[in-house]
Amino acid sequence: MTFLPPGTPVVLASANPKKAGEIAEILGDAVALVPRPPEVPDVVEDADTFEGNARLKAVALVEATGLAALADDSGLQVDALGGEPGVFSARYAGEGASDADNVTKLLAALKAAGAIEPAARTARFRAVLVLRRPDGAEVVTEGVVEGTIAPTPRGGGGFGYDPVFVPDDGDGRTFAEMDSAAKHAISHRGRSLRALVDLL
Ligand code: IMP
Repeated sequence: MTFLPPGTPVVLASANPKKAGEIAEILGDAVALVPRPPEVPDVVEDADTFEGNARLKAVALVEATGLAALADDSGLQVDALGGEPGVFSARYAGEGASDADNVTKLLAALKAAGAIEPAARTARFRAVLVLRRPDGAEVVTEGVVEGTIAPTPRGGGGFGYDPVFVPDDGDGRTFAEMDSAAKHAISHRGRSLRALVDLL
């Protein structure tokens, strides 16, 4: 039995146009995506795991629309910082912090922790997707990309912590120095989306 019959509409929880475009591109015709209705209020993401936060968003969209919903949550986990910033990645330097503020705080925290050599600066991006039907049945997938935090930001592409994340599967460039196709061939989000396509 298929989880969703072909053509079943699925509301996408993310209204971020960049992210939504990327998700639609990778999913192709595996899922009939519907944009998030603008009147649905933002969800408070206060779970302590990525899966928990993705589920909060999926449940809210199912309840608001009566349709199946797809939600994702992601972030950066740095070993020398005990897994921080984790679920706080977007607001690591405070509510409303810019990407640059978050990166500056991360580099300072690693310095303060004495994590100077690349071997002490290991980290991973993790992305979790929750696809939820109105009857509560779910498919959950995860994607992970391992890497190292660079000493200084490099590159102008991407967003978030991309200028300081050097993936192990790459050639030494940061994610912000790669084009988006090269990034998502190995990224956490690309991997979680391809895992979903494989399951459907
Ligand atoms: P969310 O999944 O949109 O809630 O993302 C949480 C935060 O994690 C973002 O605001 C970024 O700070 C960080 N993050 C998640 N994915 C990426 C990525 O691909 N590159 C850089 N930062 C990311």
